Amino acid sequence: MPIQNKSIAIVGGGPGGLTLARLLQQQELNVKVYERDLNKDVRVQGATLDLHEESGLEALRKAGLIQQFYELYRPEAGKLRITDKYGQIKLDDHDSGEDNNRPEIDRGPLRKLLLESLEPGTVVWDSHFLRMEKENNGWRLHFSNNNTAYVDIVIAADGANSKIRPWLTSISPVYSGITIVEGNLYDAAENAPELFKLVNGGKVFAFGDEQSLILSQKGDGSLAFYTGCKTAEDWVTKSRIDFSDKDQVLQWFRGAFGTWGPLWQQLFNGEKISFVPRPQYHFPFNQQWKTQNNLTMLGDAAHRMPPYAGEGVNMAMQDALELAECLCSNEYLTSEQAIHAYESRMLIRAAAVTQITLESTAMLHSTDPVGWMTRLFEG
Ligand SMILES: Cc1cc2nc3c(=O)[nH]c(=O)nc-3n(C[C@H](O)[C@H](O)[C@H](O)COP(=O)(O)OP(=O)(O)OC[C@H]3O[C@@H](n4cnc5c(N)ncnc54)[C@H](O)[C@@H]3O)c2cc1C
Repeated sequence: MPIQNKSIAIVGGGPGGLTLARLLQQQELNVKVYERDLNKDVRVQGATLDLHEESGLEALRKAGLIQQFYELYRPEAGKLRITDKYGQIKLDDHDSGEDNNRPEIDRGPLRKLLLESLEPGTVVWDSHFLRMEKENNGWRLHFSNNNTAYVDIVIAADGANSKIRPWLTSISPVYSGITIVEGNLYDAAENAPELFKLVNGGKVFAFGDEQSLILSQKGDGSLAFYTGCKTAEDWVTKSRIDFSDKDQVLQWFRGAFGTWGPLWQQLFNGEKISFVPRPQYHFPFNQQWKTQNNLTMLGDAAHRMPPYAGEGVNMAMQDALELAECLCSNEYLTSEQAIHAYESRMLIRAAAVTQITLESTAMLHSTDPVGWMTRLFEG
């Protein structure tokens, strides 16, 4: 194995980084995860995630965690309703019987499951990576709390705005034309009773005027949601909206979704609510970089993409699996060969999935998303 006795730093404790840490620890390798969150209890937001057989679930299976996953997944969470902009249901799979092809799990429990699978002390919290430089045959990492660490190999798993990526490539992301505003409404049964009923424990995809609104219920009783609108790339700054001010966001929503039914404004009820604007980017299909012998990346850091094909987490976990398999294989004599084998396959797979994702993004923001989804459902 080309990385025997080497120290490995994974920067970023998202699903990709934590899955990789688990897989490497199974091979008794010396691995630490440097995560910027202050501790494991920092609230994790975001929608429910469906894991796919050949990627996310396969990684969990190889990590020996599939049984724990099935204890935590939410069978009802995958049920989908598609509505028009007035909330009229156009497609409904709530009565279609149990379908656990793509089982769903909330982000919080998935992170907890992965964290609990690691040896104590593996994750070094409050480690916001700032920069690194070459030292001997490895890297010296610097964090915002002034700590530093020397390691032999660095894996960037620090997400869509990766700070490590520039050490591998200067290829910039391409704006997809869509900006998301992500929100989370707590106590949805009380604050948004009609929407809570409509979501019915699962998901709602609502469409109108080439815009989208996606809602999913989480196990803690909250509703995660995100709007999708065609905007200029710099809309977030140009709009001058203070996204920490609910009233300002509501005012924007009333304008941008002005022709939609009043039902959706329930999303702004309640005091405990937060919003994050996220312009959606992807990387070019033909991205490539020169393989290094002690640095690589996975997940969104390597191939960010909009969420409209539900592939991001699955790709990050499949990257982790394939990278672990390459690094631990006796087929490769050097770490550079192992990393090259991983990167070549990962880049081809990511380009194909990015292509599918962009097609889906375009169709969901077209003039007939319901027709497209109906045809998709019908195979
Ligand atoms: C609104 C929305 C909905 C989505 N829905 C889905 C879906 O349904 N299905 C799906 O598969 N995907 C979905 N995605 C995409 C998915 O969230 C990502 O693709 C996935 O989380 C990528 O995993 P990752 O481990 O690469 O990165 P991340 O999950 O982003 O994890 C990166 C980690 O690195 C840490 N970090 C970042 N910077 C630093 C730093 N400088 N130093 C130290 N630590 C750092 C972060 O705190 C984080 O813990 C969605 C995304 C969004 C925005």
